[in-house]
Amino acid sequence: MRVIRTAAELRAHLDPLRRADKVVGAVPTMGALHDGHLSLIQAGRARCDELVVTIFVNPTQFGPNEDFERYPRDLSRDVELCTQAEADVVFAPETKEMYPEGEQTRVRVRGLSDCLCGRSRPGHFDGVATVVCKLFHVVGPGVFCFGQKDFQQLQIVRRMATDLLFPVEIVACPIVREADGLAMSSRNRYLSRDERSRALFLSRALQEAIESYREGERDPRVLGQSATECLLNAGLSVDYVELCNASDLTPVEANIAEPALLALAAFAGNTRLIDNVVLQPDVEDVLRGAA
Ligand code: AMP
Repeated sequence: MRVIRTAAELRAHLDPLRRADKVVGAVPTMGALHDGHLSLIQAGRARCDELVVTIFVNPTQFGPNEDFERYPRDLSRDVELCTQAEADVVFAPETKEMYPEGEQTRVRVRGLSDCLCGRSRPGHFDGVATVVCKLFHVVGPGVFCFGQKDFQQLQIVRRMATDLLFPVEIVACPIVREADGLAMSSRNRYLSRDERSRALFLSRALQEAIESYREGERDPRVLGQSATECLLNAGLSVDYVELCNASDLTPVEANIAEPALLALAAFAGNTRLIDNVVLQPDVEDVLRGAA
């Protein structure tokens, strides 16, 4: 396993492999790796001959009052985990490598970036799209794995890849959870014991919504209201609870008839957590002509 720090060195490493028809792929991360990241590495490992894990805490996706400074960083542990997971390369550039002196360019995916997390984190997805665009350039054509934990990010990256004609395949990986249901996140380590037990109610709210959906509830207001109450009763501060179309992220107004994303964002103390589930119309809906 090699640790590479510069774009030029990464290109020099990957070019001959690509010329030899090797499939190249990457898993973009901000490090502080957990089992969620490792599941992406496994997915990439199964699809690629040469697998790059990128570890870069991207400053442009953090707002001025967010946790960029305190975001957990532990490169040597991450490198160890990537070695065990049989990645071939860790690409861990310095900020000045990804954002050369005097840089002025941002990539903006309009529409998809403005709803859900984009509303409470202005500019966040421009930072994400910009850094992922750079990684697509540096790693080149290949397979890129993203988690459904960041569902909006996944849709934005897909849209950008299509719009900018990147020859990349995007693999969406399911959310990995702790045994009790909490979605794994590098930010979970900020949580106190009390906050951790409250945080559990994000996945509980989703679970309740899945159950009432299975029992036939299709009204987005009813499903949204119950999820909101579940979060508030747990003492969480709700940023948003939204039901939206799973492909274009527009709000679902009428009864759910197409795959619908139920997306939650809430604060446990000062820590902002997100979680989601896609509610899929079932066979009975299709036969009833609802989908
Ligand atoms: P991050 O390091 O938080 O920027 O995440 C890097 C990648 O890992 C993103 O594609 C995330 O969606 C994905 N990811 C983070 N947490 C999880 C999780 N619990 N399950 C699956 N994928 C995840």
